[in-house]
Amino acid sequence: MGAKICLEHAIIFLLVLLALAFESKAGSIVIYWGQDGREGTLTDTCASGNYKIVNIAFLSTFGGGRKPQINLAGHCDPASNGCKIVSQGIRYCQSQGIKVLLSLGGGTRTYSLSSVAEARNLADYLWNNFLGGSSNARPLGDAVLDGIDFDIEGGGGPSYYAELARGLSEYSKRGRKVYLAAAPQCPFPDASLNSALSTGLFDYVWIQFYNNPQCEYKTSSPNGFKNSWQKWTTSVSASQFFIGLPASTAAAGSGYVAPNVLNSQVLPFAKGSSKYGGVMLWNKYNDDKNRPNVSSALFFTHNTALGPPYRVLVDTNFINFSIQNKLDLEKGMMDCLYAKCTPCITDCVMAELEKLGQKYRVALRIAKDPRFERLPCTHKGTYADDCLVDRVTQHKCFIVATCDRDLKRRIRKIPGVPIMYITQHKYSIERMPEATIGGGKLKL
Ligand SMILES: [Zn+2]
Repeated sequence: MGAKICLEHAIIFLLVLLALAFESKAGSIVIYWGQDGREGTLTDTCASGNYKIVNIAFLSTFGGGRKPQINLAGHCDPASNGCKIVSQGIRYCQSQGIKVLLSLGGGTRTYSLSSVAEARNLADYLWNNFLGGSSNARPLGDAVLDGIDFDIEGGGGPSYYAELARGLSEYSKRGRKVYLAAAPQCPFPDASLNSALSTGLFDYVWIQFYNNPQCEYKTSSPNGFKNSWQKWTTSVSASQFFIGLPASTAAAGSGYVAPNVLNSQVLPFAKGSSKYGGVMLWNKYNDDKNRPNVSSALFFTHNTALGPPYRVLVDTNFINFSIQNKLDLEKGMMDCLYAKCTPCITDCVMAELEKLGQKYRVALRIAKDPRFERLPCTHKGTYADDCLVDRVTQHKCFIVATCDRDLKRRIRKIPGVPIMYITQHKYSIERMPEATIGGGKLKL
């Protein structure tokens, strides 16, 4: 008997461990930093707590007899050794458990590799100047980077990039691992990187699902993206794959995916791959611009009180349609907003439910659930729509949940009040400032 109980406990314990193991398989955000002087320092970037890997962009000049050179736009001038100070940021990031890689290439045409010797020389140069080796130059100072990212978009024979990957990978044997990453374009295979990726030496692959209409995510035709993601994750041997996206509509010509679409449509699909690693964003500057303190400033001047746990004012028809759609209010709201939500019900709405009688008895029982917050009314009149409009006009800390067209129309005239409604058997939200559920709050 005792032994049996012990065994049961052991099994439960194992199940809990397993559940935790799966639970903790959350994705991370990878960011490119370095191509805009207005995006804050590398230390700021890591102190935000938003990112797990930072790619310093770029070592944009190399090969073809050129002296290798970094370009960090307005951040610092490498010619006068001005970028050595970046070492402080690299050390800070690493102290926070964030990996920092140097990204090679980028959109310029100032790099190329044209022979095995050139590839080998570049591997040695990178080792001595950015990784565990030593050199008097070290453009980013003494800090040792975690690895090298290949953002190769043209520039020489692809097979030499395979040679570069092999060269760098050999340095891993000297103790500290040199992580290898690549940022191919989403059409498979990538002309510039296929050969390098075929070595199977890469840890991370962040696929650029932007500026490539045929494989970007589009709600109207998701298969271009889906087929590409599946092809990449099953054809290339690498530890983790990331969905590369523009951080805002301004960050790329095309391919931006709004956080709510990403959360509800893209990530659930991508997570089907056991090699899903998270999301890569181009770039830090645009990610800053797309976060609440900047892009939704207007919204928050109207509504500074809105934030999780969200208080959601429901009307009678919202409860009733929820029942018809077999939606649990609290859970459904959470699935919609990825945050804890408290359904709230005013005296007037409660009175209306009571008046509606037998047909609404289930709704009434739900409304009396202790998980609902009851809001007492002191105003004149009992018309529920007026009650809700008055309340959100005076107190902008609510989301209004309704399926009533007239009430929606009235709420839309009040700045800063999001509306929750039901569509396709799910809750959906309109007028929610994107950043409160997007930006760093992606459901990775
Ligand atoms: Zn009322």
